[in-house]
Amino acid sequence: MSGKADPRAAGEGTTSRTRLDRGRGALGPALELVHTGRAPTRAVLTAELGVTRATAGAVAAELEALGLIRVDARPGAAAGSQGRPSHRLAVAEDGPVALAAQIHADGFRAALVGLGGRIVATAPGCEVVDEDPAKVLGSVVEAGAALLAETGRRCVGAGLAVPSAVAEPEGLALNPLHLAWPAGAPVRRIFAEQVRAAGIEGPAFAANDINLAALAEHRHGAGRGARDLLCVATGHRGVGGALVLDGRLHTGSSGLALEVGHLAVNPDGRPCHCGGRGCLDVETDPLAFLTAAGREQGPEAPPLQQSYDLIRDHYGDPAVRTATETLVDRLGLGLAGLVNILNPDRIILGGLHRALLEAAPERLRAVVAGRSLWGQSGGVPILACGLDHNSLVGAAELAWQPVLDDPLGVPA
Ligand SMILES: [Zn+2]
Repeated sequence: MSGKADPRAAGEGTTSRTRLDRGRGALGPALELVHTGRAPTRAVLTAELGVTRATAGAVAAELEALGLIRVDARPGAAAGSQGRPSHRLAVAEDGPVALAAQIHADGFRAALVGLGGRIVATAPGCEVVDEDPAKVLGSVVEAGAALLAETGRRCVGAGLAVPSAVAEPEGLALNPLHLAWPAGAPVRRIFAEQVRAAGIEGPAFAANDINLAALAEHRHGAGRGARDLLCVATGHRGVGGALVLDGRLHTGSSGLALEVGHLAVNPDGRPCHCGGRGCLDVETDPLAFLTAAGREQGPEAPPLQQSYDLIRDHYGDPAVRTATETLVDRLGLGLAGLVNILNPDRIILGGLHRALLEAAPERLRAVVAGRSLWGQSGGVPILACGLDHNSLVGAAELAWQPVLDDPLGVPA
């Protein structure tokens, strides 16, 4: 493909327009391939789309003209499959962004996220989360609007991650157990109102934080290439789960599937907010870890950070090691039950569960294999989540989705 004309020239002239008309339906799939890193060169894009080189060239040029990707035609920029140089494709580094927001038990964070799941800017806000959702959502949107003003980026829309199941189609936070919010708060509507009030264009979305973490990991992180991806993770408090099937989140009939936090792993365990006893939510979350290690929740750091610090810096302390092993055993029991029901081809763990895996990988894998029907004959790969702030990146994915579906609709 070396020596071809500048792809910017495609789109001019009748022949190129005809090619692009033919390739218009390929714009969305092409953008998704570049967005998820599966088409690093135009040669790979051509093969993945199953179109002619000319059509792939016109499609890439159109996406570049929209300011979404960059086509690098410098000779020797990259080698194609047979060592032939091919135009390199990448998301546009100065392109538009999505405003992502996350609320958790210990505060909130706003970020701007570009294509490719790249965090362009973030603004943490650590404070007590107000019991009125409109107040904290107003604060996080304000922080995001400040980032937009600082960077001067175009915004495609906004996405919000919350530590609660979000009932569809209304977008209600049904069980914000670790926030003081009223159950059933219409978070999507409130978030959308705050986004509009801040003068930010584009649609607004809201979903459960672990669902969004799983979506982000499937597209950009440790879940890439998995067909039946199970994600289990702690938030700052509590435990959530998500399942990505063939690239799509499985959310059940009304958005409430995969409440894995309320799987009982210790019948004589502590009472749970759900009315049950010994749930993963209260047996394997950061507070459970601190209790098992005989530590008080300190004022200097939230429990999740305090747990990370203990495992990283004090693993030689017998109390910390025993607490780790106790939680690993409980988590393994829960994962084994999920493996029997869901038969995933990969499990990824986030939050404190990631730290437990990294501290005692063999023990966790042995518990899961020993307790699951199929685990003994092969074993499901269990990996650590790979992205920083994956719930934020996932929240941005919600806002990017309309552009991925129809790149021509990106705001100018
Ligand atoms: Zn429970």
